Amino acid sequence: MALDQGKPVSRYLDVVGVEKSFKGTRVMSDMNFRVNRGELVSLLGPSGCGKSTLLRIVAGLLEADDGSVVLDGRDITRIPAHKRNVSVVFQNYALFPHLTVAENVAFGLRARGMAKGDTGAPVAEALSLVRMTEFADRPIAALSGGQQQRVAVARALVVGPDLLLLDEPFSALDRKLRETMQVELKSLLLDRGITAIFVTHDQEEAMGVSDRIAVMNSGRIEQFADPSTLYARPTSPFVMDFVGLST
Ligand code: ADP
Ligand code: MG
Repeated sequence: MALDQGKPVSRYLDVVGVEKSFKGTRVMSDMNFRVNRGELVSLLGPSGCGKSTLLRIVAGLLEADDGSVVLDGRDITRIPAHKRNVSVVFQNYALFPHLTVAENVAFGLRARGMAKGDTGAPVAEALSLVRMTEFADRPIAALSGGQQQRVAVARALVVGPDLLLLDEPFSALDRKLRETMQVELKSLLLDRGITAIFVTHDQEEAMGVSDRIAVMNSGRIEQFADPSTLYARPTSPFVMDFVGLST
């Protein structure tokens, strides 16, 4: 996998002045959001606050009405999703149930034109990263939820993405498994120096995995800080409430 390692921290993703309306209803205005290289940043906020909208705009799955998205110095605002080298992991896995684990992971490589005979090594490496090597030939339908989500992460990483986006990836899993997956994901991303945005509505999850957290409310970022600063110096009652300080 062509994953970057050990690069110095620098501004990497720049979302500038993004606006978005659905059928005339403004859900996001003048959104500005920056992520440094190698960071794991969470978007944390209640349901409907615009987390997925922002993530989909960064992925290219949704077009902003205004504003721009710059990734590693390249303006990707008008670049279609499949040409962005940005991988997305969704809550509901979106795997092909009739294909094997290895075939699912190879899919992204094949879609990018890699010959079938060349996918073996990168697929094996990606499966090893998520500790799913021995499941390579099993059909997806035979796996547990946690195993399926590991495969989804492997499929996202195998292409060596410039940016990994995760939209509530573990929210369908039970609490114990969710905590295991959080720890695994964090060390995986840290080891490989991968820049990632993690969407969640669960403040404990955000506090556990993130270098920094953007607390969102009604299409805006209320506060963007590291977890300890959010706890120590929340800048609004909303943030105070959402990080669980007001009870
Ligand atoms: P979150 O991911 O934080 O739960 P979303 O980004 O999905 O929030 O949604 C933000 C707002 O935009 C919500 O009010 C939601 O109803 C609205 N919205 C999202 N997608 C669409 C869509 N395709 N059509 C109409 N409204 C949408
Ligand atoms: Mg969402």
